[in-house]
Amino acid sequence: MGGFIHVIDLPRKVVIGYDILGDIGSYFREVLGLPHEGAYEVYVVSGSTVAKRYYSLVRDSLSELGYEVKLVIARDSTVSEAERVIEIMSNSKELAAVVGLGGGKSIDIAKYAASKLGAPFISVPTVASHDGITSPFASLKGFGKPVSKPARAPVMIIIDVSVIKEAPPRYNRAGFGDIIGKYTAVRDWRLAHRLKGEYYGGYAASLALMSARHVSRHVDEIAAGTDEGLRVLLEALVSSGVAMCIAGSTRPASGSEHLFAHAVTMLVRDPPLHGELVGLGTIMMSYLHGLKWRKIRSMLERLGLPTTAAEAGLDEDIVVKALVMAASIRPERYTILGERGLTEEAARRLVRVTRIV
Ligand SMILES: [Zn+2]
Repeated sequence: MGGFIHVIDLPRKVVIGYDILGDIGSYFREVLGLPHEGAYEVYVVSGSTVAKRYYSLVRDSLSELGYEVKLVIARDSTVSEAERVIEIMSNSKELAAVVGLGGGKSIDIAKYAASKLGAPFISVPTVASHDGITSPFASLKGFGKPVSKPARAPVMIIIDVSVIKEAPPRYNRAGFGDIIGKYTAVRDWRLAHRLKGEYYGGYAASLALMSARHVSRHVDEIAAGTDEGLRVLLEALVSSGVAMCIAGSTRPASGSEHLFAHAVTMLVRDPPLHGELVGLGTIMMSYLHGLKWRKIRSMLERLGLPTTAAEAGLDEDIVVKALVMAASIRPERYTILGERGLTEEAARRLVRVTRIV
């Protein structure tokens, strides 16, 4: 172990509760203190719809402490949009923190901007659709490709369950798809360790797997959208993000099923939700790994998540093309797809065996 240094950056405070958004100031104060010279501006990054509903709650609560609060609307999750947002914030000489308020787009842009500007990042998700709410990576699109940019773990995560409950059920169900993908992501990681000697963190891997098992045991509650189901899902999303913090990479949370999801996102104009695609990918990658893929499919079915190309609004050729190109999206990430990826013939066979088509 000589010379081996592994640094783990974790969130300092995770708050989950009902109607807590308007109290963000008191949690903020505990973690970051009161505004002072050199740190009294807070930027909130949000989408326009979410901002209309929730921004004033956040602004009022932080203004009460004496912070100067400013809103930036994130238009998309591209690298160039992130640069634009950074440009706006870089005029601030007194930046105290960046808050990401919303879904994937706002969280990722805020996280990346905060990390570039060396400011603390506060994650305030309004949907339970993905595990980026805790992770130290920002998923952005650049050069026509999805890229995972190293950023910082949030110093604090505020999850208002009353807000998440108001989100469209489709988004919260998608979170289940993202989490179920850890079954194959962890297998891919182990494979890369065994075949390529890649670093493998057993503890981080177990934590990611545990989040998948946790949601698997509560499918019906999550499907029904009960408070208990939502809480289980949120816990799993947080712990999967923590697994990435511990591993120092997205490895425990993202494998071949994510490469497939990214490939589809690159190929179609209006792609299904990230978690829906990851769920679909997990069915196929479980088959390749020799896991119980029928069980994965039946859980997704119970949740009303797409289990066929048609249900996801995709045609066979797109799914096949995505499977063929998946391995080339991140060539350094070794998975069950191998170095060169699936042949078209193997991909066609895979979609038929797993009844995606
Ligand atoms: Zn994901």
